[in-house]
Amino acid sequence: MTDTLRVLLCTSEAVPFAKTGGLADVSGALPRALAGQGCDVGLMMPAYRSVPRDDLEAVAAVRVPVGPQTHEGRILRGVMPGTTIPVYFVEHPAFFDRPGLYGEGGRDYPDNLERFAFFCRAAVEYIRQAPRRPEIIHCNDWQTALIPVYLTTTHRDLGPIGTLFTIHNLAYQGLFPAEQFGMLGLPPDLYGIDALEYWGQVSLLKGGLRFADLLTTVSERYAEEIQTEEFGCGLEGVLRHRRDRLIGILNGVDYGAWDPAHDPHIPARYSAEDVSAKARCKEHLQREQRLARDPRAPLIGMVTRLADQKGLDLVAAVIEDVMARGAQFVLLGTGDPKYHQLFTRLRGRYRRQMAVTLSFDDSLAHRIEAGADMFLMPSRYEPSGLNQLYSLRYGTVPIVRRTGGLADSITDCTSETLAAGTATGFVFTPYTPDALRQALERALSAFADPAMWRRLQQAGMRADFSWARSAARYVEAYRGAREMLSVSLGTPR
Ligand code: ADP
Repeated sequence: MTDTLRVLLCTSEAVPFAKTGGLADVSGALPRALAGQGCDVGLMMPAYRSVPRDDLEAVAAVRVPVGPQTHEGRILRGVMPGTTIPVYFVEHPAFFDRPGLYGEGGRDYPDNLERFAFFCRAAVEYIRQAPRRPEIIHCNDWQTALIPVYLTTTHRDLGPIGTLFTIHNLAYQGLFPAEQFGMLGLPPDLYGIDALEYWGQVSLLKGGLRFADLLTTVSERYAEEIQTEEFGCGLEGVLRHRRDRLIGILNGVDYGAWDPAHDPHIPARYSAEDVSAKARCKEHLQREQRLARDPRAPLIGMVTRLADQKGLDLVAAVIEDVMARGAQFVLLGTGDPKYHQLFTRLRGRYRRQMAVTLSFDDSLAHRIEAGADMFLMPSRYEPSGLNQLYSLRYGTVPIVRRTGGLADSITDCTSETLAAGTATGFVFTPYTPDALRQALERALSAFADPAMWRRLQQAGMRADFSWARSAARYVEAYRGAREMLSVSLGTPR
């Protein structure tokens, strides 16, 4: 063992190649931060349609059985832009050359189990051939959860490779009908409640939770929450059983991509030293979103997947009051058709005060961060949350629910925290329209007091959530996983 850790991060999405949510930001930024910590790091992900093919080199062919069929795939090697970090794309056009990553039109692809079983098995098959094996494989969410299972069962001969499994969102479990278990090529006894069975279905996520050497999740608060019935999605028992192997590490921010001082997507640049150009960003946003061009109207932004998790029912319940207070609301989001309908309907009622864009638009996400005064995240649960961290840097004061990473990163504005200079946002606790309404009310009153608002903005803009600190904690965890390799292989932990 050398002191330079060789780490392979396996993920189903990564910026700048493919993104549906926060996992892509993390997978794009963490490898750079790990390289900065002296790790020898590589990234592995599917070769989706959105991955540019120029400059990729085929480095291996893999033959992977999935069910009765053997699939042929290739490993294409590229690099993370602007770095020498290798990226290994698993290519199999029938599985990955599609318009979506996991589905289309709000519906999952029916062959997702085969697609991601293929991806996981291709990853371990490639490791067999690779000139240098990683010491640690860092897996993320259900799409990569089979890797620790294969490594400790069918692919034990690869020798000890430490695995760390990160839960980015416990609610997405990769659940499939029991009949599909046979496709995975695993010993039949792994379809049992101590391994991959979850109430009569196959849970890929559970495989990761049982078989990885170490588990992490994306905030300390969420690490505690998921051990309870309320947040555990039925897996709280499994997580409590492994709590000595579970740690929370808050996601960081890639300030190379998210900083108003040098953001190419926004119309004017600004920083904590001189925030004045933020007003131009607001004016630009009001113009492009066809809102009334009023610098004094508080502008509330929201950029989110439109999913039940995100507290959109609360937003709908309070929107009338918010509009009555003369505020403006800009939403960018895509997801569940029921929310597409809901916000299209609401927008029809408040044309000059409300703008709704129902698509995925990274550049607009940046302009909303810069142009809004406040950023709304009333999530039912939020493992880490990134947008509240981006908002801090953009001087856009977050209004959040006290859960997961939101609770760990935003300090509620009270007379004490304001006096101490630590207040960064508005936090509410019960998941009710009333509690959200009160938080909004407090935020709108603070906005009417420019000196107070400036204090809040300054505290947020100066906060540091860069990746370096979180990456150092991952390195510590990898070292821990490497040390655990002597632990017996082949049984669920
Ligand atoms: P989650 O991972 O649950 O989606 P996060 O707050 O951790 O939530 O990360 C969401 C990321 O996805 C942020 O970078 C956010 O800006 C981005 N995002 C979400 N929806 C959209 C959209 N419709 N257009 C552009 N970016 C989006």
